Amino acid sequence: AIMALIYEHLRGQSQTTYEELSEKLNRASRTDDLTGLANRREIRELLDAEAAIYARYGHAFSVVMADLDRFKALNDRHGHAVGDKYLIAIADCFRKNVRELDRVARWGGEEFVILLPQTRLPEARFVAEKLRKAVAQIALQQGESTGTLTASFGVQSIERATDVDDLIRQADDRLYEAKHRGRNQVVADRERAVSDKTVA
Ligand code: GH3
Ligand code: MG
Ligand code: MG
Repeated sequence: AIMALIYEHLRGQSQTTYEELSEKLNRASRTDDLTGLANRREIRELLDAEAAIYARYGHAFSVVMADLDRFKALNDRHGHAVGDKYLIAIADCFRKNVRELDRVARWGGEEFVILLPQTRLPEARFVAEKLRKAVAQIALQQGESTGTLTASFGVQSIERATDVDDLIRQADDRLYEAKHRGRNQVVADRERAVSDKTVA
């Protein structure tokens, strides 16, 4: 009987450990190591879930895609560690400047995707503009002095896309246009760029 109890006890323990471990692995597989943001896999699932809600209830959502400007030059000049410090600071900045229901993800190296549920294009453009200004305020130590960084943004709403892939593609096209127009700006539709630098 004692042996059976010991056995039960041990079995119970390893069960918890296994569940904890499994939970940890699950979370890790959805999280970006450097920034703690959702990774590409996680945001893709969240986007698909939002698309299903949109199809069922018509609640429109939008995405903001951001890419840091001339980030390679910063890495080359100040080293990868400084670059990483910026990525972490920018991730925090994005998290702080969006609502609780919004989700920020690291899409790739220096690219971010922000999912804005229940948000239509004009409001999404406003959020992107707020993020653009917030990024430009971040001042970090780089070498002897402090420096700043900017980002470019593309915005699109599911209302103007056929599906999630098309939505991402369009946001990316607009981001590319923001780069083309001189960076540090938001492009939310093909005709118009929104920023301090351009006259709308
Ligand atoms: P653009 O304004 O056109 O976006 O120029 P860019 O230099 O930002 O773009 P490019 O795609 O040429 O370079 C992206 C750079 O991002 C390359 C690499 O040095 C840097 N990068 C990507 N991932 C990481 C990372 O995890 N840490 C650091 N420190 N740098 C990264
Ligand atoms: Mg890039
Ligand atoms: Mg870049």
